Amino acid sequence: MIAALAATALGSFGISFPHDRGAVTEGAHTERRDVQVGGRCGSTQGNAVCATGLCCSEEGVCGTGRDVCSSPACQLSFGSGCDGNKSPSGKDTSNVPRPLFGDVPYGIDIPKCTLPGKVALTFDDGPNKFTNELLDILKKYNAKATFFVTAANGGKGQIQDESSGFRDVVKRMHKEGHQIGSHSWSHENFVAISAEQRRDQIVKNEIALADILGFFPTYLRLPYSSWNGEVQSELKEFGYHSIDFNLDTQDWKDPNGNYQIARDSFSSAVSQHSPKDSSFIAVAHDIHEKTVRGYVQFMIEQAQKFKYDLVTVGECLDDPSNNWYRDVGTGQEWSGPAPRKGQEKSGTPTSTTSPSSTAGGGVQGTTAGSTPASTSSPGPKEGITSASGPNTTRDAAGTAATGTPKPSSAARGVYRLTSGVLLGYIVLFALV
Ligand SMILES: [Zn+2]
Repeated sequence: MIAALAATALGSFGISFPHDRGAVTEGAHTERRDVQVGGRCGSTQGNAVCATGLCCSEEGVCGTGRDVCSSPACQLSFGSGCDGNKSPSGKDTSNVPRPLFGDVPYGIDIPKCTLPGKVALTFDDGPNKFTNELLDILKKYNAKATFFVTAANGGKGQIQDESSGFRDVVKRMHKEGHQIGSHSWSHENFVAISAEQRRDQIVKNEIALADILGFFPTYLRLPYSSWNGEVQSELKEFGYHSIDFNLDTQDWKDPNGNYQIARDSFSSAVSQHSPKDSSFIAVAHDIHEKTVRGYVQFMIEQAQKFKYDLVTVGECLDDPSNNWYRDVGTGQEWSGPAPRKGQEKSGTPTSTTSPSSTAGGGVQGTTAGSTPASTSSPGPKEGITSASGPNTTRDAAGTAATGTPKPSSAARGVYRLTSGVLLGYIVLFALV
């Protein structure tokens, strides 16, 4: 079905981009590229493209305004004005080096944790107006989560713009120990768009996040979990782990207004499996009011009741937190708040750079005994890639980047402190 969709979308259309005007004859049919407001556009309209600056609505009508231009409903290939075709301000990340570091594989779909006894709550499609409230709730329960951020979807503007109000929300996610992943720039279906458009979707989201944080993620969740081999290869080239899920809460499906499907999905998963040998990457969406107001509390309490630790995706994959992000300057693992001019000190990641400190906080501590064994040999059910295996991926990834972990910022701090004290003693000794 996805392949069919891709074929339909890309088909004979090629990647004519809607900058040029007039009619173009390609083979047997004519493509219009100058459709004005109110005219028909899109794949069902002979691939007619709106005039420059206009948006092609989901229904295939050229126009302007939030409703028409909001992505991903706006048809990217037929309206240059779609939010997804706009670009963020900020430093271009296209040329940032992308060494593949860490032990988590690249180039494959990862739906599961490697460590048992974990629930990694993930929230896609935000930030949006309920996200701050969600952060309050997570804080109250001392639970950590992962946010797969989409910077320009749903007509919310662009998150790196001060006027959007989302810069502080994203900073807060990081400051409070949550993980931030990419969910693309405007949430397009990666199988149905061109390679060039996919690149755009990846890079623009990086620019937005790096503008806010000074680094960008190495974890990405594909919109609609839609992918094929080509997409996975491209993600690897861009240095991303492709994170899926194995617990679909279906929080978007709420026919009776009581979230019963979502409640049943979550509680049956955690109650029918043992934390001794099971873990879950659960997907929900912080754009939905009732997900934040009621369902999140339910998930947290259920997970705690059945003795699962609530951790980030990186933690459930046993990946040190430095590997979760790429430094926008060097392309290497993000190693903490190196002096970056103009950046406030509140970014101090003492609570986030050490997975152990996060795991030890409050709700955790129930599966300490099972952790070492599972680290060395993940069980067949929980292993991420029985087929390709971590070795293959690591070798292909370039071992140079993985072999020399940098000391953490905390370790460097201790080193500096020790050196300082020693020097003090020597000086004192000399004086005496
Ligand atoms: Zn999504």
